[in-house]
Amino acid sequence: MSEEVNPFESMQEQIDDAAVHLDIDPGVLERLKNPERVLETTLSVEMDDGAIETFRAYRSQFNGDRGPYKGGIRYHPGVNRDEVKALSGWMVYKCAAVDIPFGGGKGGIALDPSGYSADELERVTRAYTEELRPLIGEDRDIPAPDVNTGQREMNWVKDTYESLENTTEPGVVTGKAVESGGSEGRVEATGRSVAIVSREAFDYRGGDVADATVAVQGYGNAGWVAADLLEDMGATVVAVSDSSGAIHDPDGLDPVAVKDHKRDTGSVAGFEGAGAWTNRDLLTADVDLLVPAALENAIDADIAADVSADIIVEAANGPLTPDADDILEERDVLVVPDILANAGGVTVSYFEWVQNRQRFQWTEQRVNDELERVVTEAFDELVDTFEERELGTFREAMYVVALQRVRRAAEQSGVWP
Ligand code: NAD
Repeated sequence: MSEEVNPFESMQEQIDDAAVHLDIDPGVLERLKNPERVLETTLSVEMDDGAIETFRAYRSQFNGDRGPYKGGIRYHPGVNRDEVKALSGWMVYKCAAVDIPFGGGKGGIALDPSGYSADELERVTRAYTEELRPLIGEDRDIPAPDVNTGQREMNWVKDTYESLENTTEPGVVTGKAVESGGSEGRVEATGRSVAIVSREAFDYRGGDVADATVAVQGYGNAGWVAADLLEDMGATVVAVSDSSGAIHDPDGLDPVAVKDHKRDTGSVAGFEGAGAWTNRDLLTADVDLLVPAALENAIDADIAADVSADIIVEAANGPLTPDADDILEERDVLVVPDILANAGGVTVSYFEWVQNRQRFQWTEQRVNDELERVVTEAFDELVDTFEERELGTFREAMYVVALQRVRRAAEQSGVWP
């Protein structure tokens, strides 16, 4: 993994690449490349042994021209200000890519949750929510899960906010458990959009995802569901990895059995009948489809030169460095960008928010049908723009679509006072 690439600079470069094709006022463009505000705070939390520990925490609100800020909360030791800024910017363009009425935000706490008890994590989450309280709300800024956070943390955020505000406002956060106002289909939504765009990408290239061999880097919420749904579509998942190692089986791995093994042992490594690989082996494996579903900058220029897959579908946010992107374009590897591929998560978060406001629960079938429609329409718009404007990459095309939408909203909002 490349350490030198700053994800915030990568994100700004992606916007600049798209802006070349649009006649945008330089002042407006600068505004669309920078967050409106960033909260940086230190949480002081009592540990189980009575000691006080401090944690660096952030929330970036990047752009609200199209609706409330929207984006996940990440718990990871690598969380820092620039990473949160980058992730919040990607959320703006992701929401615009699939045309849902949200802006973009992102938050995070620099901590490794594996080192803390559930009680400690609850106190950390509640302390963080108290800091966020003036900034969030169902019409202001709506957090969601990201790396190392899930329904449990979202339920804590909801409860803390509602207790402090003396109200019920389930739409203040998405990704909640269904019983606490969550949506059917939300847990699977990110992996589902990854599988849908994979199917569309093979179709675009004149192939069939059912014939594809697949490698998935990162076996968390996004990665494992993508692997499972791709297998349902007939694809053969031959390799998967997590932070402890990679496994492979040329005859195909059973995604559910691997998931159960990871639940029981903490890792995909050691799965019975599978061979062990390095992270690099997996990323350069001779497969048709590569799905990076771990963290930013997983594929740098060095790895990109050796990638064998014909198609990469970015389940993670920002998994390719800008140099890797250039090399893969030269090598005619089709990259379906993160802002479309993993947009299923925020799309079903939007459905959850709509259901919360309606106080009316949709069926899982309805959620999945609406998601299918939103993602395939966005894919078609990407392809139309790619072909009409004769662009170099799918990423550029998706950013052109998204940037046009955000730019129009920003220009229509104007500047006040
Ligand atoms: P997660 O915490 O559930 O899973 C992350 C996985 O990546 C874990 O299996 C972890 O072991 C693995 N990993 C970490 N470092 C790795 C490495 N160096 N090599 C191989 N594996 C590694 O997180 P998630 O929610 O699945 O998120 C994964 C990515 O998808 C992130 O980039 C996130 O921003 C993005 N994403 C997630 C959602 C969502 O709804 N969960 C939505 C959109 C985008």
